[in-house]
Amino acid sequence: MMSEHSTRLYERARAMQLQIRDWRRAIHQHPELGFQEQQTAQLVAENLRAWGLHVQTGVGKTGVVGSLGNGTPAIGIRADMDALPIQEANQTAYASQVPGVTHACGHDAHTAMALGAAKLWSELPNRPAGTLRFLFQPSEERMDAEGKGGARRMIEAGALDGLSAILALHVNSSLPPGRVMVAPGYATAFGDYYEATILGAGGHDAFPHHAVDPIYLAAQIVNAIHGICSRRIDPLQPALVSVGTFHGGESGNIIPHSVKITGTIRGLKDEVREQLAQELERALGIARTLGGDYQLMIKRGVPSTVNDPQLVEIFCQSVTEMLGLDALAPVQPGLYAEDFSYMTRQVPGMFAMLGVQIGDEVRPFHSSTFDLDESALPIGSALLVDTACRLLQR
Ligand SMILES: [Zn+2]
Ligand SMILES: [Zn+2]
Repeated sequence: MMSEHSTRLYERARAMQLQIRDWRRAIHQHPELGFQEQQTAQLVAENLRAWGLHVQTGVGKTGVVGSLGNGTPAIGIRADMDALPIQEANQTAYASQVPGVTHACGHDAHTAMALGAAKLWSELPNRPAGTLRFLFQPSEERMDAEGKGGARRMIEAGALDGLSAILALHVNSSLPPGRVMVAPGYATAFGDYYEATILGAGGHDAFPHHAVDPIYLAAQIVNAIHGICSRRIDPLQPALVSVGTFHGGESGNIIPHSVKITGTIRGLKDEVREQLAQELERALGIARTLGGDYQLMIKRGVPSTVNDPQLVEIFCQSVTEMLGLDALAPVQPGLYAEDFSYMTRQVPGMFAMLGVQIGDEVRPFHSSTFDLDESALPIGSALLVDTACRLLQR
């Protein structure tokens, strides 16, 4: 019974293939950076209204929320709309027309797939009781002046209120079309940023004993930082502390006053996140032991995404009944971050990856050559609606 439902939905989605592709291309040609998604939001809102959805615009600055249905429960489907400050290198007919800006993370595809899902839902005969709410969020990639990204702004605007679950798909350019990657538990990492200043006392290089050399201090500290994950964190827990910049000194014969290092901290568990912050503080403490001092600033980024096991199970039923048992690919974990995580900490959520690789081409995320196989887009639309229908009927 459900299987038939899945198959019919997939057929309907495939019949919309060109339309979904055209939305993606229109958005791709006119990419907009985070919190500037005016044209994209307009395209989304106009379509949703035409299909009879109740639409709110300006949600969380430039977000759009469209809902359609009949009472509770309410299931959310989230897509992000923002592009990246990268010059596109591809020469396709639909390449970005905005210099220095392109959709290199596939958010154009996410928006087009969610539009496809909204249209499928609006045209679905015998819709189950309940409501689908489509959340088109701004700025997944960057934070505003107050340090908040699009997901947090949408939550603050009440876009998640009353939802019993929320679903999101992210395209994956190293997984073939027709394949999907998902697992219960952690789906994406937390990501924090730190800046440390190691303070010494400068002087003439011939009299190091009269100075406190911050380069010497910082060299010990960098070693200690690189020892945190191997010596201080449970080896079965993913964790990472990187030193991305190291700056100090102006001249070969002068001991400088200070050295500045910056880097990132990533991992999965909240406890590991706290421990990494403490261990970083301890590593910097070496500066004091050796006669100097330090200042540390940790800027908290997004938390990790936690997939609800029940939602994953229902989504996997939808995947296998629509695409076959082989469609579920083994998960390739990575410590990248996603601000959908904030939403999964408000209501039960699920974040899955949808294969969009073009043949065997290598087109990494956030690169100037990123592109995707558009034939996978209807799969995403159909899976979102099918999973939501199953959730409404559970
Ligand atoms: Zn991205
Ligand atoms: Zn992304």
